[in-house]
Amino acid sequence: MAKRDYYEVLGAQRGASDDELKKAYRKLAMKLHPDRNPGDAKAEAEFKEVNEAYDVLKDPEKRAAYDRYGHAAFEGGGGAGGFGGGFGGGGGFEDMFADIFGQFTGRGRGGQPGRGADLRQEISVTLEEAFAGVKKTLRVPTAVQCEACNGSGAEGGQAQQNTCPTCNGAGKIRSQQGFFLVERPCHTCGGTGRIIKNPCKICLGAGRVQRDRTLNVTVPAGVEDGTRIRLSGEGEAGVRGAPAGDLYVDVNVRQHALFQREGANILVRVPLRMTQAALGGHIEVPSIDGGRSRVSIPAGTQTGNSFRLRGKGMSVLRSTQRGDMYVQVVVETPQNLTPKQKELLEAFEADAKGGKSSPESEGFFAKVKEFWDGLGR
Ligand SMILES: [Zn+2]
Ligand SMILES: [Zn+2]
Repeated sequence: MAKRDYYEVLGAQRGASDDELKKAYRKLAMKLHPDRNPGDAKAEAEFKEVNEAYDVLKDPEKRAAYDRYGHAAFEGGGGAGGFGGGFGGGGGFEDMFADIFGQFTGRGRGGQPGRGADLRQEISVTLEEAFAGVKKTLRVPTAVQCEACNGSGAEGGQAQQNTCPTCNGAGKIRSQQGFFLVERPCHTCGGTGRIIKNPCKICLGAGRVQRDRTLNVTVPAGVEDGTRIRLSGEGEAGVRGAPAGDLYVDVNVRQHALFQREGANILVRVPLRMTQAALGGHIEVPSIDGGRSRVSIPAGTQTGNSFRLRGKGMSVLRSTQRGDMYVQVVVETPQNLTPKQKELLEAFEADAKGGKSSPESEGFFAKVKEFWDGLGR
């Protein structure tokens, strides 16, 4: 199918001024707008065509390229050509359109005109705080209802309204980015499509003002890293009495210097002196609740052995239960020996030869010998 000339699509002359193009575009966009032509596939296609044409011609660089090379200027990348068959079978395109138009008319998800924006904040808690639960104070830069006009946006209460001239009452401004229609709320009217003739002097008719709001958030015990808490209605105030958005708080649980969390359990790695590991004894380990526990280490403990302390782990969300703590030991080889220590260890080594104090080594070297023997060496 041959693509129509962009000027022809807009019904404009090749030498048309920017203003003339804009006027021609507006007229057509109003006439072909899907909200005015529900279910009319032809109007939808033309509307797309008009948007695409204007997207190119309103941009001086793109327009110059188009004047020179025609549609070839945008083929093989970007523009409509770039998407090729992508929209043929999948239905993704229809879905995308339905989404956009749904939002546009307020039928879609959260598309109520003037509804306050959702906000997102992150709070960072320590592992101890995640264990015990904590109250955090958040400072949220947001929009709150204007007190001077009680959110009505009108001086003296009663609002006299006109259609917003910027968006012609649609509440949104749309533009074509390549093939995609991008739309954002109209700034002039805050997305309501109407402006107030007698605006409040404090909020200039918006019915809300920018302010930092302080909120107390309770982070429950047992919270996991990445948990999202939704505070309904705590987002930005809506425009002139429209519902407020929601506030989403993302909880980030910081790493701990000693404890490693594994779901409800906690792992703590404890270095053990070689002699402690060999002779056995007791060690004292900290727990996340601030307490200390005695762990008995049997003689001959190896690196990697772990000891379970029941009920000493993390608290579990919405439960009185607690996970377990695992104490994993790492045997430390002595370094920086004094002459005396060296002498003692040499005496130990001489005594240990051929004995049974290192069964793993003995076993290993026995296997090595078998291996070499098997090769006939
Ligand atoms: Zn006000
Ligand atoms: Zn507007």
